[in-house]
Amino acid sequence: MPGYELWSDAERKEVNDVLQTGILMRYGFDGPRKGIWKSKELEDAICSSFGCKHAQLVSSGTAALTTAMSALGIGYGDEIILPSFTFVASFEAVISVGAVPVFVDVDDTLTLNPEAVKNAITPKTKCVMPVHMCGSMADMDALQAICKEHNLILLEDACQSIGATYKGKKLGTIGDAGTFSFDFVKTMTCAEGGVVMTNREDVYINSDGYSDHGHDHKGIDRGADLHPFIGYNFRISELHAAVGLAQVKRLNEFLAIQKKNHAALKNILSAVPEISFRRIPDEAGDSCTFLSWFLPTEEITRAVVTEMKAQGILAGNFYWYDNNWHYIRKWDHLKNAVTLNALHPDLKAAVIQHATKDFSASDAVMGRCVSTAIGLLWTDEQLRTKGEQMVNVIKKVLSTQKQMA
Ligand SMILES: *Cc1c(COP(=O)(O)O)cnc(C)c1O
Repeated sequence: MPGYELWSDAERKEVNDVLQTGILMRYGFDGPRKGIWKSKELEDAICSSFGCKHAQLVSSGTAALTTAMSALGIGYGDEIILPSFTFVASFEAVISVGAVPVFVDVDDTLTLNPEAVKNAITPKTKCVMPVHMCGSMADMDALQAICKEHNLILLEDACQSIGATYKGKKLGTIGDAGTFSFDFVKTMTCAEGGVVMTNREDVYINSDGYSDHGHDHKGIDRGADLHPFIGYNFRISELHAAVGLAQVKRLNEFLAIQKKNHAALKNILSAVPEISFRRIPDEAGDSCTFLSWFLPTEEITRAVVTEMKAQGILAGNFYWYDNNWHYIRKWDHLKNAVTLNALHPDLKAAVIQHATKDFSASDAVMGRCVSTAIGLLWTDEQLRTKGEQMVNVIKKVLSTQKQMA
């Protein structure tokens, strides 16, 4: 699944280039850096690899979401529609710009249910943010149509789906803007890092300035830059960009291994008729980071997870329903809007209201779902053993359930 599994001389070489000059910052120092611009090189490589006009590297995927939202002018009084199954960073970014996160149900794609999105639209809705979870995509045709009809911004959180496509287009490049995370467990890594991708020049210029204290980056003298608006420091370092530059060149290699291993594991699990798989709007575009599968009921799924744990084979399998980071059920800090700094009372009330709605339709999906992370280092033998062990556990639980029935 993550690029760190295949750490190599390629990453060491790029980092060493930076260590040679000692210029660890991405801006300025034009003479001493001796032509080494890893961040710029990585941004160019992202544009050409993923097919977008502009890319702005930042310090994390969370920073990329915050930067994109600010660059798109989303803030006070605005509502952003996002799914109940995501990573905490998605709503952290929304709250950080002072907007209201409006959670809606996911369906068997494990992403936004377009009908739920339609039902959540109000006069305050400014943006729809699909989160392409676990390597695969939301129904982008349906979401694009909704955004067009209601004149809404489409922002893709593609942090988990680097290299996945929808109808030939890379995820993260379809909406007004999109983000990747390059944290340590993502498909490709910078150790820490992220990027805002966009085809809109205005969004790019805003992202470029916002992530560096509002600098306009128009002159060669950094000290003389103007500040057309207030920004932050979300800069990436040259060391991090160097790692990413090596990784982006290897991405197709990572994806090819994932696809092969994913197909083999899916084939093994398909032998059990009670197992069904995540619905994927464009099967060919799956980056195959995870294989996500369903069992008929929550009870059976829980029993399988418990038995896998007992047998010591749960590692790499995720039961998101009980997970503290990814599913709304366990986000008590959000449901109580616990922040260190005071929020505007209206925002606080809205956060609580939207986080504590009825998500039973999501529960019905997530309670039956397990995602298996696809390893890049699995041998054929290990993969077969893993698949067979999983099938045996599932069959055992199913037969016990039948006996009890
Ligand atoms: C990882 C992730 C992020 C945030 O990325 P960081 O680089 O860890 O800040 C945002 N959204 C999703 C869906 C993610 O999985």
